[in-house]
Amino acid sequence: MKVYGITGGIGSGKTTICKVFETLNVPIFYADLVGREILKEESIIEQIQLLFGKEIIFNGAIDRAKLAQIVFNDKEKLTVLNSIIHPEVAKLFEEWRLSQNANYGLKEAAILFESGSNKHLDGVVYISAPENIRIQRVVDRDKVSIQSVRDRISNQWPEEQKLALANYRVLNDNKLALTPQILKLHKELTK
Ligand code: ATP
Repeated sequence: MKVYGITGGIGSGKTTICKVFETLNVPIFYADLVGREILKEESIIEQIQLLFGKEIIFNGAIDRAKLAQIVFNDKEKLTVLNSIIHPEVAKLFEEWRLSQNANYGLKEAAILFESGSNKHLDGVVYISAPENIRIQRVVDRDKVSIQSVRDRISNQWPEEQKLALANYRVLNDNKLALTPQILKLHKELTK
């Protein structure tokens, strides 16, 4: 089965758009969700505790907010954390891919180009939306400050750099209708 990546900046609407593809019976691998689930595995908890100390555990589980805060400010620790999580996500992705029976599937991930995983996919769909709209969506959804969203955006690659590498684009700017864009893309990807 062909698998296309689907990515975009924070608040671009990746999950929202994937839910529409789901209604078209397109299988979706939610890489970020799988990454979060992996943090519940005993062997992963042990490895993370070894690296970050027992302060990283809260009520027997990884304190994800604390973990995110640490790696946000420490690139070396982020690299080590990724080396623990990525192989596990990659293994589950391969299992998922082999178990599907569809014309194509989508792999949703916030970080695709940055990690180089686009190279193992059949193409990438980029969801774009103006930065001010993306910020407002995340502020409304997560009840966080504008500055905290800006900080997360500044840690991602610039929009133009990712768009230049993408094969397909969906504009989710609250103006251009989404459904016709998705149906057109679905037709193209089904070929
Ligand atoms: P993140 O990078 O944080 O995971 P995301 O790219 O997956 O975000 P979504 O969670 O799909 O983005 O969308 C962000 C918020 O904006 C959600 O609350 C969603 O309901 C809303 N949203 C996205 N697209 C639209 C739209 N076209 N019309 C109305 N609301 C939208």
